[in-house]
Amino acid sequence: MQPDPWTHCHYCGAPLVEFHDHQRPRQRCSRCGQILYRNPVPAAGCVVVQHGAVLLVQRRRPPFPGHWHFPSGFVEYDEDIEAAAVRETYEETGLVVEPRSIFGAYSYFDDPRKNGIIILFHAEVVGGTLRPGDDAAAADFFPPDRLPQPLCFAAHIRALREWIERG
Ligand SMILES: [Zn+2]
Repeated sequence: MQPDPWTHCHYCGAPLVEFHDHQRPRQRCSRCGQILYRNPVPAAGCVVVQHGAVLLVQRRRPPFPGHWHFPSGFVEYDEDIEAAAVRETYEETGLVVEPRSIFGAYSYFDDPRKNGIIILFHAEVVGGTLRPGDDAAAADFFPPDRLPQPLCFAAHIRALREWIERG
């Protein structure tokens, strides 16, 4: 996804000009000269499995309301990535989890808000009670042969396929 170009410098507020930096279009401030690099944003989430069933949440809000994916979300600027995975899982499912290892890392280009990178952690439930949070319409565990539909986000769908293949 190619985002809308920015219009003003994030540092001094002056208008931006486009230029080419080794073939790649970038934007630079017309006053202070800062180049505004646009980078993928990090997201974090958890793969939580109990009795062979995986924890998924159903979106309440756009994009893709009604679709299912792993509990996950954007990492705050001053937040540790594992802490973000734990926080998002708690906010969306009510479950307190502890990350154990990295399940996988995936680039994504199909979120209309931002391109990014998601890191999914294997995590175990250590507390809490399963209930959908504010951002989620539903949260539940699903065995691989009874996954809910529709799913969303290519990275999540790929990770789910990998989870099934790994048995
Ligand atoms: Zn500037």
